[in-house]
Amino acid sequence: MKIVPEGICLNASWGSQAQPTGVTVGAMREGLTVDEAQALILEAAPVLGVETISAFDAAGRVLAEDIISTRRHPPADCSAMDGYAVQAADLSTAGPETPRSLPVVYEVPAGGQAPRPLEAGEAARIFTGAPIPAGADAVVRQEDTRAEGDQVEILVRPSNREHVRSGGEDFEVGDRLIEPGAVLGASHLGVLASVGRTIVAVHQRPSVAILSGGDELVEPDRPADSGQIVSSNSYTLAAQCRDVDARPIYLGIAADRPEAIEERLRAGLRADVIVSSAGVSVGDHDHVRGVLEKMGCELRFWGVLMKPGYPLTFGVIKSTGTLVFGLPGNPVSSAVTFEQFVRPALRKMMGHNSVHRPVIRATLSEGMRKRPGRLHFVRVSLERQDGGWLAKPTGNQSSGVMTSMIQGQGLAIFPIEAESLEVGTEVDVQILDSEFFEQSERGF
Ligand code: AMP
Ligand code: MG
Repeated sequence: MKIVPEGICLNASWGSQAQPTGVTVGAMREGLTVDEAQALILEAAPVLGVETISAFDAAGRVLAEDIISTRRHPPADCSAMDGYAVQAADLSTAGPETPRSLPVVYEVPAGGQAPRPLEAGEAARIFTGAPIPAGADAVVRQEDTRAEGDQVEILVRPSNREHVRSGGEDFEVGDRLIEPGAVLGASHLGVLASVGRTIVAVHQRPSVAILSGGDELVEPDRPADSGQIVSSNSYTLAAQCRDVDARPIYLGIAADRPEAIEERLRAGLRADVIVSSAGVSVGDHDHVRGVLEKMGCELRFWGVLMKPGYPLTFGVIKSTGTLVFGLPGNPVSSAVTFEQFVRPALRKMMGHNSVHRPVIRATLSEGMRKRPGRLHFVRVSLERQDGGWLAKPTGNQSSGVMTSMIQGQGLAIFPIEAESLEVGTEVDVQILDSEFFEQSERGF
């Protein structure tokens, strides 16, 4: 069975195993590896349809069409400099000590045309971007000349086609300029404009309905007594959606009652994706999975062999095709599972070919131990060391300690079967901080 769509790369070596490890309960599997869970999710996530938008606003969007040039650029040979169009053969002996004087017979401004071909022994005043007159085969820079009334003294010997931009040097009619799947950046948009494409077809951005759940939760702007917890996950999850250019919609906080959860979830059915945090574990008050099943959600799996974040569930609502992620409630678990599972799905949905965060190799600054059987994502800060990277765990790794996410830029991968990693071991570090590569290198 082929479960990974073409062009989608999986994290190669994070404890994936040839045989599925999951236990199958009915149609639902339990206790999958990270790689298995990602593969099932990516298989289920559809690439969204196409919309046409103004190219002016298309930065960051994923192109959904082939851009074939309908124009030649530049349309004709033109000057790359302000100076004089000449015939190079006239100037074979010209130099600073042996200037050659030529009559200036006309001027070609940018946007203008030569009135007639240039003859041997003549020069034409020309400006950057102006078409080269027929007969001329080089441009001498103004700096290499001396104007003398109707004449110009040429102080250099130009080579053939010097300072001439060839017609079509950028692209010709019929050239394939940008392929579907390109993430439109500044240069793409400039090229689109040069071929007159002010409207482009791009993949739609998925809408993501975000729900928090739990009787203990209060909105951040409400007073919270000691038995309550301020609901922060929705804010983190909305930002994670925006980071990937998806459209978050907030569904509020659902109380720990099946009817309350169902009412909120139903409000999210028009979204492409529902992300619900908390209530997916096995406690007496964890009703999310039961409600989803009642709503016609085909649950594909429950539980991923990772820490933080074991209690994760994923399914598809049959009537609407909405993908549903039930993330664990602890703030770090919710954020880390979004990164591993929701983000790649959203990127696939909006047409990206590469769906994963970048991974670098780094040396561990301290040893770590764990029990085998789960892959650990360890929050680390990164520093330059001996031309490589040093990864330092950011202290308290409790899944409730969100500040240790702020202090780090990435997640070190502690493989599933490993029990200890010695100080100095090289590990994979998944980079979560989009600014990281920009901050870490010297600028010009
Ligand atoms: P649960 O998954 O419902 O067992 O929740 C696990 C932990 O995460 C509990 O301590 C919750 O209070 C906490 N939690 C759940 N939802 C949120 C949220 N929206 N914001 C912050 N913490 C949460
Ligand atoms: Mg709860």
